[in-house]
Amino acid sequence: MSQPIKIGIVGVGKIVRDQHLPALAKDQNYRLIAAASRHGKVDDIPNFPDIESMLDAVPELEAVALCMPPQFRYDAARTALEAKKHVFLEKPPGATVSEVEDLKALAVKNGVSLFASWHSRYAPAVEAARTFLSSARINSAAINWKEDVRRWHPNQEWIWAPGGFGVFDPGINALSIVTHILPALFITSAVLDFPENRDAPVAAHVAFRTSNGLPVTMELDWLQTGPQSWDILADTDKGAMVLSGGGSKLAVDGRVVHDEPEAEYPMLYKRFAEIVRSGASDVDLAPLQHVADAFMLGKRNVIEAFFD
Ligand code: NAP
Repeated sequence: MSQPIKIGIVGVGKIVRDQHLPALAKDQNYRLIAAASRHGKVDDIPNFPDIESMLDAVPELEAVALCMPPQFRYDAARTALEAKKHVFLEKPPGATVSEVEDLKALAVKNGVSLFASWHSRYAPAVEAARTFLSSARINSAAINWKEDVRRWHPNQEWIWAPGGFGVFDPGINALSIVTHILPALFITSAVLDFPENRDAPVAAHVAFRTSNGLPVTMELDWLQTGPQSWDILADTDKGAMVLSGGGSKLAVDGRVVHDEPEAEYPMLYKRFAEIVRSGASDVDLAPLQHVADAFMLGKRNVIEAFFD
């Protein structure tokens, strides 16, 4: 086996503790040797207040995983790429499409790998859904992504700020799946519900059309209490497909055909090691482009104020 990739982690918050640290601890492709965060700390390794001081003090770093909110990621990514480090970007890869395009070019210029990670694409039943749909005639599809923001994102101010995406922060996970399993699609209309005291939407009602004319709808709702749903449905000539649980379970006409434990972050780190070792990048901007298009084309509907 090749030498472990010496990696540092930046922006130590919820997703780092929940997913990145456990995934890195079990993956022999990596040795986590430093962390940078203003307040967060990782036990048993050197910690720094920012990426610049981490890169200065630990020149042997080969790669960094950037896990701060998207609005604050570009400068850190640029610093890392210019220092010739491979870069793993949490989703969404940036606050705008053009800044990530710029990072893509910078990775090529510096001869390092850039990975725009889309964790939901690595959910266990996504490939099975893609295979099923590729052999079926699809009549229509629908995305229902409905969750309780107070439960999943309590007091995360950045998520309501411009560039925080609001309900598109989870919604982009659905888009990362549909852009992988359905034919190419584009938005034809959208209505975005903005609480009167917030700069990001709490709900969105989006209509797409595929290049061959199929209707696809997307309902995003952040005020869903009780059962939560992260489902993609397709009506096809081979039956009604339901990909539920954020991509974890696949059923056709009510019969479960794929249900495995999730291993999204271990799979993401496996993919990152592959691209680093083969000298490639993996940056698919389609999910981010759809969010940009929804904001560009969407009608803004102001609704009652939201308080955590
Ligand atoms: P979080 O806990 O609120 O933020 C991560 C950390 O980023 C913060 O703890 C903060 O650490 C650092 N940070 C750096 N600059 C910041 C700034 N100007 N404002 C706020 N924080 C700043 O968020 P998270 O849930 O881990 O999400 C981070 C990224 O992961 C997002 O892009 C999100 O979409 C993605 N993600 C989250 C989840 C989830 O379940 N939460 C799942 C998948 C992906 P310091 O204060 O120590 O600098």
